[in-house]
Amino acid sequence: MQIISATYVKSSANYTQCPPPDKAEYAFIGRSNVGKSSLINMLCNKKNLAKTSATPGKTQLINHFLITSASKNNTAKTTDWYLVDLPGYGYAKVSQKQRKSWSSMIEQYIVRRENLGNLFVLIDSRHEPQQIDLEFINQLGVWQVPFALVFTKADKNKPAATTRNVQQFLSSLQESWEELPPHFITSAVKGDGRDEVLQFIDQMNKE
Ligand code: GDP
Repeated sequence: MQIISATYVKSSANYTQCPPPDKAEYAFIGRSNVGKSSLINMLCNKKNLAKTSATPGKTQLINHFLITSASKNNTAKTTDWYLVDLPGYGYAKVSQKQRKSWSSMIEQYIVRRENLGNLFVLIDSRHEPQQIDLEFINQLGVWQVPFALVFTKADKNKPAATTRNVQQFLSSLQESWEELPPHFITSAVKGDGRDEVLQFIDQMNKE
């Protein structure tokens, strides 16, 4: 897939304020500092499309970007879709009240957003499986939303360590999931995994 253009559309405080659900939509979520903004910018080939918030966790908004893309083998035909940057979880300095408001906003968006085709859950590949990520993913099972895992920052570790962490994470999931989700190993610095993630979205756009 080739990205022809990527532009910011709007930030919404809840799912009712999101743009009309008239295009396929793919959302990205993960723990704070997982590398979500860097990954979105890398996928879209645009340096400052997604920005890290100056006050992490304070602004909990659903950010929509309009993407126009073309398949690699047919550049004449373009497709419009939404890429969504969701507010992350796991900020240390967030009150109980803010945590609750995040949960309810995310649940409503995930459960009710009718054009949501897939949720990409970002996992920091430098670490062993973290409880907070496993809990969030198990919640997705309750909500029955399609998702894929994106392991980030693969350039930070030796390949063998990344593979070990990924395998450990997938093994942890196997305790509660019969079927494992698709997964991608990425580096925003090196561009690793870009083609694979975009190809996956292209395929969903065609279905
Ligand atoms: P966000 O809070 O999830 O949006 O995370 P950011 O994209 O702001 O990234 C958090 C930090 O990790 C920043 O210092 C990034 O430069 C760094 N980072 C993000 N992705 C990568 C990556 O793929 N490789 C490396 N080496 N650093 C990364």
